[in-house]
Amino acid sequence: MIDIKSVTVTELATNCYVVTDKATGDCAVIDPGELSPELDKTLSVIGYDKIRYILLTHGHYDHIGGTDAVLSKTGGKAEVAIGESDVPMLGDSFSNLSKFFSSSPLDSLKCNIALHDGDKITLGESVFNVIETPGHTKGSVCFICEDSIFSGDTLFYRSHGRTDFPTGSNMEMASSLKKLAALKGNYTVYPGHNITTTLEAERKYNPYIGSNYDNIY
Ligand SMILES: [Zn+2]
Repeated sequence: MIDIKSVTVTELATNCYVVTDKATGDCAVIDPGELSPELDKTLSVIGYDKIRYILLTHGHYDHIGGTDAVLSKTGGKAEVAIGESDVPMLGDSFSNLSKFFSSSPLDSLKCNIALHDGDKITLGESVFNVIETPGHTKGSVCFICEDSIFSGDTLFYRSHGRTDFPTGSNMEMASSLKKLAALKGNYTVYPGHNITTTLEAERKYNPYIGSNYDNIY
Protein backbone atom coordinates (compact mmCIF):
# COMPACT_ATOMS: atom_id res chain seq x y z
CA MET A 1 0.00 0.00 0.00
CA ILE A 2 1.17 3.48 -0.80
CA ASP A 3 0.50 6.93 0.60
CA ILE A 4 0.47 9.82 -1.88
CA LYS A 5 1.08 13.44 -1.02
CA SER A 6 0.85 16.20 -3.62
CA VAL A 7 2.85 19.42 -3.43
CA THR A 8 2.49 22.13 -6.07
CA VAL A 9 5.85 23.56 -7.15
CA THR A 10 7.24 26.17 -9.58
CA GLU A 11 5.49 29.12 -11.16
CA LEU A 12 3.93 26.68 -13.62
CA ALA A 13 2.10 24.88 -10.78
CA THR A 14 3.67 21.50 -11.38
CA ASN A 15 2.32 18.67 -9.26
CA CYS A 16 5.13 16.95 -7.39
CA TYR A 17 4.01 13.67 -5.84
CA VAL A 18 5.60 12.17 -2.77
CA VAL A 19 4.81 8.45 -2.68
CA THR A 20 5.55 6.41 0.41
CA ASP A 21 5.42 2.63 0.71
CA LYS A 22 3.49 2.25 3.96
CA ALA A 23 5.08 -1.07 4.91
CA THR A 24 8.66 0.20 4.91
CA GLY A 25 8.44 4.00 4.85
CA ASP A 26 10.52 4.02 1.68
CA CYS A 27 9.72 7.03 -0.45
CA ALA A 28 9.82 8.11 -4.10
CA VAL A 29 9.57 11.72 -5.21
CA ILE A 30 7.94 12.16 -8.60
CA ASP A 31 8.78 15.33 -10.56
CA PRO A 32 10.43 17.65 -8.03
CA GLY A 33 10.28 20.77 -10.20
CA GLU A 34 11.85 22.66 -7.34
CA LEU A 35 12.62 22.05 -3.70
CA SER A 36 10.10 24.56 -2.41
CA PRO A 37 9.78 25.23 1.35
CA GLU A 38 6.58 23.15 1.39
CA LEU A 39 8.20 20.21 -0.39
CA ASP A 40 11.22 20.44 1.90
CA LYS A 41 8.91 20.33 4.92
CA THR A 42 7.01 17.33 3.54
CA LEU A 43 10.22 15.42 2.79
CA SER A 44 11.77 16.35 6.13
CA VAL A 45 8.80 14.85 7.99
CA ILE A 46 9.13 11.62 5.97
CA GLY A 47 12.91 11.72 6.34
CA TYR A 48 15.35 12.38 3.50
CA ASP A 49 17.06 9.11 4.38
CA LYS A 50 13.89 7.28 3.31
CA ILE A 51 13.94 8.69 -0.23
CA ARG A 52 15.01 5.88 -2.56
CA TYR A 53 14.05 7.33 -5.93
CA ILE A 54 13.50 10.55 -7.79
CA LEU A 55 11.21 9.52 -10.65
CA LEU A 56 10.92 11.93 -13.56
CA THR A 57 7.99 11.67 -15.97
CA HIS A 58 9.94 13.73 -18.52
CA GLY A 59 12.79 16.19 -18.89
CA HIS A 60 11.18 19.64 -18.72
CA TYR A 61 12.63 22.07 -16.19
CA ASP A 62 9.40 22.48 -14.22
CA HIS A 63 9.52 18.73 -13.45
CA ILE A 64 13.26 18.21 -12.94
CA GLY A 65 14.45 21.55 -11.48
CA GLY A 66 14.60 20.38 -7.85
CA THR A 67 16.30 17.06 -8.58
CA ASP A 68 19.80 18.03 -7.46
CA ALA A 69 18.53 19.81 -4.34
CA VAL A 70 16.52 16.76 -3.24
CA LEU A 71 19.33 14.41 -4.22
CA SER A 72 21.95 16.25 -2.18
CA LYS A 73 19.67 16.21 0.88
CA THR A 74 19.59 12.41 0.57
CA GLY A 75 23.37 12.44 0.64
CA GLY A 76 23.40 11.49 -3.02
CA LYS A 77 21.83 8.13 -2.18
CA ALA A 78 18.54 8.41 -4.07
CA GLU A 79 18.47 7.06 -7.60
CA VAL A 80 17.26 9.32 -10.39
CA ALA A 81 15.18 7.70 -13.14
CA ILE A 82 13.88 9.13 -16.43
CA GLY A 83 12.78 7.74 -19.80
CA GLU A 84 15.80 6.91 -21.94
CA SER A 85 14.95 9.32 -24.74
CA ASP A 86 14.72 12.21 -22.25
CA VAL A 87 18.09 11.51 -20.61
CA PRO A 88 19.87 14.12 -22.80
CA MET A 89 17.43 16.79 -21.60
CA LEU A 90 18.93 16.62 -18.11
CA GLY A 91 22.09 18.25 -19.44
CA ASP A 92 20.58 20.51 -22.08
CA SER A 93 19.00 23.80 -21.00
CA PHE A 94 17.60 24.25 -24.51
CA SER A 95 15.53 21.07 -24.68
CA ASN A 96 14.58 21.14 -20.97
CA LEU A 97 13.38 24.72 -21.59
CA SER A 98 15.15 26.21 -18.57
CA LYS A 99 17.20 28.42 -20.91
CA PHE A 100 14.03 30.22 -21.93
CA PHE A 101 11.75 30.12 -18.93
CA SER A 102 13.90 29.81 -15.82
CA SER A 103 16.32 32.14 -14.08
CA SER A 104 18.64 29.19 -13.38
CA PRO A 105 19.48 27.12 -16.50
CA LEU A 106 19.75 23.37 -15.89
CA ASP A 107 22.62 21.79 -17.78
CA SER A 108 24.30 19.29 -15.49
CA LEU A 109 21.67 16.95 -14.02
CA LYS A 110 22.39 13.24 -14.18
CA CYS A 111 20.37 10.06 -13.81
CA ASN A 112 21.17 6.54 -12.62
CA ILE A 113 18.35 4.74 -14.40
CA ALA A 114 17.20 5.11 -18.02
CA LEU A 115 13.64 3.81 -18.13
CA HIS A 116 11.97 1.66 -20.79
CA ASP A 117 8.48 0.34 -21.38
CA GLY A 118 7.71 -2.50 -18.99
CA ASP A 119 10.40 -1.63 -16.45
CA LYS A 120 9.54 -2.09 -12.81
CA ILE A 121 10.78 0.08 -9.96
CA THR A 122 10.48 -1.56 -6.57
CA LEU A 123 9.85 0.73 -3.61
CA GLY A 124 9.73 -1.32 -0.42
CA GLU A 125 6.80 -3.67 -0.91
CA SER A 126 5.30 -1.57 -3.72
CA VAL A 127 6.09 -1.61 -7.42
CA PHE A 128 5.93 1.10 -10.07
CA ASN A 129 5.34 -0.13 -13.60
CA VAL A 130 6.77 2.07 -16.32
CA ILE A 131 4.83 2.83 -19.50
CA GLU A 132 6.44 4.77 -22.31
CA THR A 133 4.06 7.50 -23.47
CA PRO A 134 5.86 9.69 -26.04
CA GLY A 135 4.11 12.76 -27.41
CA HIS A 136 4.77 15.59 -24.96
CA THR A 137 8.43 14.62 -25.19
CA LYS A 138 9.97 11.58 -26.84
CA GLY A 139 10.97 10.03 -23.51
CA SER A 140 7.81 10.80 -21.53
CA VAL A 141 6.75 7.96 -19.25
CA CYS A 142 3.86 7.26 -16.90
CA PHE A 143 4.28 5.40 -13.64
CA ILE A 144 1.59 2.98 -12.49
CA CYS A 145 1.51 1.90 -8.87
CA GLU A 146 -1.47 -0.02 -7.46
CA ASP A 147 -4.56 1.85 -8.69
CA SER A 148 -2.74 5.10 -9.40
CA ILE A 149 -1.25 6.48 -12.62
CA PHE A 150 1.25 9.31 -12.43
CA SER A 151 0.73 10.68 -15.91
CA GLY A 152 3.18 13.59 -16.11
CA ASP A 153 2.32 15.91 -18.99
CA THR A 154 0.76 13.14 -21.07
CA LEU A 155 -2.78 12.86 -19.72
CA PHE A 156 -4.46 15.82 -18.01
CA TYR A 157 -7.98 16.33 -16.73
CA ARG A 158 -10.01 16.51 -19.98
CA SER A 159 -6.86 17.41 -21.89
CA HIS A 160 -3.27 16.42 -22.65
CA GLY A 161 0.18 18.00 -22.56
CA ARG A 162 1.49 20.26 -25.30
CA THR A 163 3.12 18.63 -28.30
CA ASP A 164 4.89 21.67 -29.76
CA PHE A 165 8.11 21.59 -27.72
CA PRO A 166 11.28 19.84 -28.99
CA THR A 167 10.73 16.07 -29.57
CA GLY A 168 6.96 16.49 -29.07
CA SER A 169 4.60 14.77 -31.51
CA ASN A 170 0.87 15.01 -31.95
CA MET A 171 0.71 11.57 -33.56
CA GLU A 172 2.64 9.97 -30.73
CA MET A 173 0.48 11.75 -28.16
CA ALA A 174 -2.63 10.32 -29.81
CA SER A 175 -1.31 6.77 -29.61
CA SER A 176 -0.03 7.25 -26.06
CA LEU A 177 -3.46 8.44 -24.93
CA LYS A 178 -4.98 5.39 -26.63
CA LYS A 179 -2.46 3.19 -24.85
CA LEU A 180 -3.50 4.60 -21.47
CA ALA A 181 -7.21 4.37 -22.29
CA ALA A 182 -6.71 0.70 -23.24
CA LEU A 183 -5.45 -0.22 -19.77
CA LYS A 184 -7.84 -2.58 -18.05
CA GLY A 185 -9.89 -1.26 -15.15
CA ASN A 186 -10.00 2.09 -13.48
CA TYR A 187 -7.20 4.17 -12.01
CA THR A 188 -6.84 7.45 -10.21
CA VAL A 189 -4.85 9.72 -12.51
CA TYR A 190 -2.32 12.06 -10.91
CA PRO A 191 -1.26 14.45 -13.66
CA GLY A 192 1.74 16.77 -13.86
CA HIS A 193 -0.51 19.82 -13.81
CA ASN A 194 -4.07 20.59 -12.79
CA ILE A 195 -6.46 18.40 -10.83
CA THR A 196 -6.58 14.68 -10.19
CA THR A 197 -9.01 12.66 -12.28
CA THR A 198 -9.81 9.03 -13.07
CA LEU A 199 -9.04 6.99 -16.15
CA GLU A 200 -12.69 5.99 -16.48
CA ALA A 201 -13.81 9.63 -16.50
CA GLU A 202 -11.15 10.52 -19.08
CA ARG A 203 -12.20 7.60 -21.30
CA LYS A 204 -15.70 9.09 -21.28
CA TYR A 205 -15.16 12.83 -21.27
CA ASN A 206 -11.64 13.62 -22.50
CA PRO A 207 -12.13 14.96 -26.05
CA TYR A 208 -8.70 13.68 -27.12
CA ILE A 209 -9.17 10.04 -26.20
CA GLY A 210 -10.58 7.11 -28.14
CA SER A 211 -13.54 7.60 -30.41
CA ASN A 212 -13.83 11.22 -29.29
CA TYR A 213 -10.32 11.84 -30.56
CA ASP A 214 -10.99 10.12 -33.86
CA ASN A 215 -13.88 12.49 -34.38
CA ILE A 216 -11.62 15.51 -34.06
CA TYR A 217 -8.73 14.37 -36.25
ZN1 LIG B 1 6.47 19.25 -19.72
